[in-house]
Parts: sequence; C-alpha cells; structure tokens
Amino acid sequence: MDSRRDFLQKITGSVIALNLPRYSNAKDIFNNSYNGPVLRVAIMGLGSYATRVADAMQTCTKAKLVGVISGTPSKITAWQSKYNIPAGNCYNYSNFGNIKNNPDIDAVYVITPNGLHREHVMGVAKAGKHAICEKPMAVNAKEGQDMIDACKAANVKLLVGYRMHFEPKTLEIIRMRKSGELGKVLFFQGLSGFVIGDPTQWRLNKKLSGGGSMMDIGIYSINGSRYMIGEEPVWVTAQETKNNHEKFKEGIDETIQFQLGFPGGAVASCLSTYSMNNLDRFFVNAENGFAELMPATGYGPIEGRTNNGELNYPHVTHQTVQMDEMAGIILQGNKPIVPVDGEEALKDLKIIDAIFLAAKTGKKIDLK
Ligand code: NDP
Repeated sequence: MDSRRDFLQKITGSVIALNLPRYSNAKDIFNNSYNGPVLRVAIMGLGSYATRVADAMQTCTKAKLVGVISGTPSKITAWQSKYNIPAGNCYNYSNFGNIKNNPDIDAVYVITPNGLHREHVMGVAKAGKHAICEKPMAVNAKEGQDMIDACKAANVKLLVGYRMHFEPKTLEIIRMRKSGELGKVLFFQGLSGFVIGDPTQWRLNKKLSGGGSMMDIGIYSINGSRYMIGEEPVWVTAQETKNNHEKFKEGIDETIQFQLGFPGGAVASCLSTYSMNNLDRFFVNAENGFAELMPATGYGPIEGRTNNGELNYPHVTHQTVQMDEMAGIILQGNKPIVPVDGEEALKDLKIIDAIFLAAKTGKKIDLK
C-alpha cells in the first residue's frame, strides 16, 4: 500500500471534508496524484522522539527519511535496515559536515538534547542544508538568535518542531478566536506536567537541558498562550517551588508557576512541573464562552470541547502532518496558520529567559 493511502487510512472521510482548509498545503497532502517535490530528510540524534518521528514519516507524502546522523554505530545499522537508509547517507557528529557534498539530502532534523541544538543547527547551516530543530530551539534567546543568524547567512530555512501548530482541534480553537466566534480571549490557563524518572538523564543536566520542566514542557503553555490569545505578552511574573533538591539541582526547575500579561488585557496563568502526573490542559475563556483541550499537547488523541459541545475532529499522527507541512513550507514556500520558524521559537525563548529571571528575583519582568 502506498504511503498516501496509509496516511488517508489514519483519518476518516469526515476529517478530510472538515479539515482540508485547516492545513496550508492540505490539497497537496490529500491529492491522490501528488507528484510534487519531496523533502529528503536526515535525522540527527536517534533517541526516543527521533524514533517516533521516523515511524510517523513512513506515511508522509511530501517528506521522506533518507539519512541519519548518530554517535551510536549500532543505532545507525538498526535504522539502516529498519528504514532502508543507504550507507552513503549515514554520518556521525564528527563527519556530518560532509553532508554538504551529498545532493540526496535536503534537510536535517535535529532531535538531540536541547543544549546541543545550537551547535548542531549551526553545523547543518554550515553544510548548506535546511534545519528543522526540536523544541526548545535553544537553551536561551541569545543562542536562538545565533541559530537564526547562521541559517540566514547560509540562506537555509530554520523550522522548529511545534507539532501542535498542525493539530486540528488546536487549529479549530484558533479559527474560532480569529473569526470572532469566541469573542475577545481574556484568560488562558496552561498546565503541563509529568513525574520525571531517572535522575541521571540529560533532562536533569543543566548543560544539556538548559533547565528543568520549563524548557521541556512549560514551553507548550507559553507557546499555547500566544496562539490562543493571539498577542505577544508584555510582562511576566513567576514563582518556583522545589521540594526535591537532590533530584532537581541548581538551574533545574522542578515546578514553576508563571503568569503572562497581554497588551489587550488578557492574562495567562500557567504551571509547569516535573513532579505531577497527567497534567496536560489548556483552557481559554473569552467574552462569548470557553474552549478546553485536555489532553492538550500529548501525542493524542487530543480531546477538546467548548461551551457548545465536543470538538469532533479525528486524531491525526502529529509528526506525519508536521513533516508534510514542513516540506510544503521549505520546498513550496507555504505559510502555516501559526508560524513554525526560528523567529517564532525565539519569542518563546525570550519569555523563558524572563520567567527564569522573574522566578529568581521575584520581580515583574517587562517584555516590551
Ligand atoms: P533522547 O535522550 O531519547 O534522545 C536524544 C538522542 O540525542 C540520543 O539518543 C543520542 O542519539 C543523541 N545525543 C547526542 N549527544 C547526546 C548526549 N550528550 N546525551 C544524550 N543524547 C545525546 O531524547 P528525546 O528524543 O526525548 O529528546 C530529544 C529532543 O527532542 C529534545 O530537544 C526534546 O525536547 C525534543 N522532544 C520533543 C518532543 C515533541 O513532542 N516535540 C517530544 C520529546 C522530545 P545518538 O545515540 O543517535 O547520537
């Protein structure tokens, strides 16, 4: 069975009818006879999320996994046979600069620990390939700006793995806000949390993670507040709670509660934690009613409702849609409904910097 049909099997006929306009390049994705350009992607960092992305890419129409970059030779061999990757498209962290001489790879998807994103994306840009980078784009705004500058100088695109920007129920609430159906959004609540395990993992190592739960999952609420309210915040306040100082060392936040103020008078109130399970909720309140997503940012199905009832959009595999959409952005200049470029990610990093400062000083931080 071809990949297009596989993809169509993941969704029902009704979602095709309902959701076509919600994807910027949906006509191409759902077009039986798509024979346009295909983005040939190498994945860097063959860990847990990379495996999820690789599996999801098997049903992409516009993007194809063709290469790997890894520090672990046994993973390279396993991926070669699982995903049919030619030896000539396999690299390690020392020699991946040679990718510049490989005409069979268009883009590299960096899925390594956060603290390595800057170095890895800048290496990809230097090799003249488009970069897709996982969230958070970097560990602070300064590093993020360096990455944007490097990609601009190399004339390559930089996109960030904001998969929720292509999720149908999320997009439906954004549509309701933009159309005026919801009225003015005045309140957003974002809750993100899970209990993190192994204390030796890179997520609890400041150099590799850049922080704790905020970098990893709090970023969803920051980003979500911006696209649900439709404005950029102008101030931040934050309070940190740390109960386990052994596990969550200096610079690794366990729990942060933060508030964002928006120019039109809306506020966001959010919690990010590595110590509570099953916390994944967005709640939007507006002049005309409410919208809720719970779970809001997991791999799905995302569940949503408004004061008028359930949001009935069937589940799509986030990473499949994301990669097809990103191929359209890179190869065909398509414009996503919510941006996924480096500038969009930099806005989140600036807010994270301010949240850390606010939590440390106890002060209200001006973002203007
Ligand atoms: P993993 O630890 O599972 O994988 C990271 C991989 O990076 C490793 O397997 C390894 O691959 C490579 N790597 C290179 N250097 C190091 C190092 N010093 N320490 C550890 N690993 C190294 O992490 P995840 O896959 O969970 O996360 C990777 C990125 O993806 C993060 O930025 C994270 O925030 C993001 N992510 C995004 C999600 C989303 O929904 N958008 C969900 C989960 C993660 P190799 O052996 O091949 O070199």
